[in-house]
Amino acid sequence: VFRALVTDRNAAGEIASSVQSVDESALPAGNVLVAVEWAGLNYKDGLALAGKGNIVRAFPHVAGIDFAGRVVESRNYRYHPGQSVILTGWRVGETRWGGYAERARVDAEWLVPMPRRLSARTSMMLGTAGLTAMLAINRLKEDGLTPARGDVLVTGASGGVGSIAVMLLARLGHRVVAVTGRPEQAEHLTRLGASEIIDRKQLLEASGKGLDTERWAAAIDPVGGEVLSQVLKKIRYGGAVASIGLAGGANFDGSVLPFILRNVTLFGIDSVMQPYEARVAAWERLSTLFVPGAYEPMVSEKHLEDLPREAAAILRGEVAGRIIVNPKAP
Ligand code: NAP
Repeated sequence: VFRALVTDRNAAGEIASSVQSVDESALPAGNVLVAVEWAGLNYKDGLALAGKGNIVRAFPHVAGIDFAGRVVESRNYRYHPGQSVILTGWRVGETRWGGYAERARVDAEWLVPMPRRLSARTSMMLGTAGLTAMLAINRLKEDGLTPARGDVLVTGASGGVGSIAVMLLARLGHRVVAVTGRPEQAEHLTRLGASEIIDRKQLLEASGKGLDTERWAAAIDPVGGEVLSQVLKKIRYGGAVASIGLAGGANFDGSVLPFILRNVTLFGIDSVMQPYEARVAAWERLSTLFVPGAYEPMVSEKHLEDLPREAAAILRGEVAGRIIVNPKAP
């Protein structure tokens, strides 16, 4: 038996989660059994644990869209017992049991070998948030973004994706402008490498025009909604925005003017179904760019028991940086 945070629906249709002892025989089918050492808490985990967003459809469920640990058993050539592995995405923690447990059984295709420079803990400091930030930066770079082109804006900068994007961009030599609704996080963001902080309220002051003064060469946007509407109007000629998330809303208003008059590109970034080779490459790059010691003030360690409360907090936009989850008993 192992410890797991089991999410279930009661007769009244309410979703609740509790830590339970689960028998290994209850794990789903798969060719690799992993001893989970650390998992992460992401916005999507918040939705899953709150029963929102139609993320989880079959109960009982074990949530947790990312985890890192060691292989216990493997029937796949790529993995052997004792090997360190990372899992993000592939709808693990959504349609399949995920990382909020001491054990997870998964398909080998969903795993990546842990880069040498990372540990289970540092890889979950990054987690899905870090991988997605890296994928967004890679996409903008492929489009020709260089530090010489101008400033890069990061929205939702105090969150998981945002804070890691700030750090990675600064490490790559870009001048980073961070948007946050929490001015009290400004000092942390400056330490991660932001050169300028913009208050979200100020960004949202709509001009009523289809285009505003050109300001940033590119933007990474985990927020969506009205924030994305305002950002698109201010991207410089030939620039690009990487849309990653919907923490501020899934729908946005806008016009085609940034696209047809300023040659602006809107890229969509998905980490969940990203192919194996791209994941391995992104994790390798992360492992060389990420400085765990510098990011440590943005990390808080939690246990399975804490997750229902933290899930509600992340949906309210109150979690700063990354929450990492130790599945062992507190
Ligand atoms: P997070 O840690 O909660 O970060 C989201 C940040 O957005 C918050 O910290 C907050 O930053 C800002 N925010 C929250 N509510 C807002 C609101 N109502 N209006 C404007 N800004 C708001 O979450 P995360 O795990 O980094 O994920 C961020 C988003 O990216 C989520 O929508 C998630 O689903 C998505 N995502 C997508 C992928 C993908 O593959 N495409 C991967 C990972 C995440 P400030 O307080 O600094 O303003």
